[in-house]
Amino acid sequence: MDSLFNRERSELEEYFLSIGEKKFKAIQVFEWLYEKKVWNIQEFSNIKKEVRDRLEKDFTTTLIKCVKRQVDKDVKKYLFELQDKNYIEAVLMYHDYGISVCVSSEVGCNMACKFCESGRQKKVRNLEANEIVEQILVIEEMENVRISSVVIMGIGEPLDNYDNIRRFIRIINDAKGLKIGARHITLSTCGLVPKIKELAQEQLQINLAISLHAPTDELRNKLMPVNKVYNIDTLMGAIKEYLQLTSRRVTIEYVMLNNVNDSIDCAKTLAHLLKGLNVYVNLIPYNETNAKEFKRSKKETILKFYDTLKKEGLNVIIRREFGSKIDGACGQLRGSERI
Ligand code: SF4
Repeated sequence: MDSLFNRERSELEEYFLSIGEKKFKAIQVFEWLYEKKVWNIQEFSNIKKEVRDRLEKDFTTTLIKCVKRQVDKDVKKYLFELQDKNYIEAVLMYHDYGISVCVSSEVGCNMACKFCESGRQKKVRNLEANEIVEQILVIEEMENVRISSVVIMGIGEPLDNYDNIRRFIRIINDAKGLKIGARHITLSTCGLVPKIKELAQEQLQINLAISLHAPTDELRNKLMPVNKVYNIDTLMGAIKEYLQLTSRRVTIEYVMLNNVNDSIDCAKTLAHLLKGLNVYVNLIPYNETNAKEFKRSKKETILKFYDTLKKEGLNVIIRREFGSKIDGACGQLRGSERI
C-alpha cells in the first residue's frame, strides 16, 4: 500500500477528485500530517468518517523505525529500519542558525567513491520519497525540535534517485507541508552530469553542492569512479550551465585527504578550475572510517590549502567538524550494524 507521506499536495488533490471529494481535503490532510503531526487517519476530525475509512484503505501512515541513536554534544545520529528490514541513517546537527538534518536517499550506493564507507555497500534500492520525509518526521518527533534545513548528503547519490528526490523536495518545501524553504535545502551530488542539467531546468531554488574532491582527472579517477564517465571538463560544463540557468551559487565540496589531494599544487589547480565562477568551496576535514587507506589532512595543511584558495580570490570555508566521535562519516553506523 502506498504511504500518505509519499504524495505531493497536488497528487492528493487529484486523488480526492478521483474519489468524488473536494480537492481542498488535500490541504486538510497535509495540515494533519505535517503541522499537527497527527498520523492516525481516524483522528483527522475535520474529515468525515467515510472519507477517513477510504483513506485508510488506500494509504498507510506507518513510519520508519529508529533502532539506534548515537549522541554527541552538537550532533545526533540515527539508524532507521525500513519496512523491508533494510537500514538507512540520518544525522541531526545543531548550528547557531538552527537545526539541520542530513538524510539518506538510497539503501547503499553504487558510486563507489573510495573514501566513503557507503561506497563499499552496493546500492540495494532507491528510497521512496516518503522514506526520506519520514527521516525528518521521526527525528522531529523524537527530539521535539523543528528542523530548519535539510541536506541530502547521507547514504546514496540523490540524482541517481531523481524522481523520488524531486517529490521529496516538493513535499518538504510545501507551504502546507514541512515548510522547509528551498534555500534551506541542499542537494549534494558526485557529478551525474545529465541529471545536473535536468535539475537546472526545474527552477527549484535549492542549493546544489558538487562533490569534486580532486582538481585533475588523474586524481579524481582514482578517488571517484564516476569521473571516468563524466570527467572534470564535462562536469564543469554542467556546473556552468547550472549557474547560468539558475543564477544560484554552487557549493564545491572538497574532502581533505592527507597526502592525497591536499598539496598546494592541488589548491592552485583547483583555484584555476573555479576562477570567475559563482561558487564557494567547502573544505571538509575527512572523517576517518574503518578503511585505513585514507587519513584526515593535518590542520596546518588544511589552513595552507585554505589560504592558497583565498589568495587566488575564491570564496572558501572550512567546514565545522561534526560527529567525529560517533561514527559520523556516511555509512559507518549502518555498516557496523550489518556486519
Ligand atoms: S560519497 Fe556519496 S556518492 Fe560517493 S559512494 Fe559515498 S554516498 Fe555514494
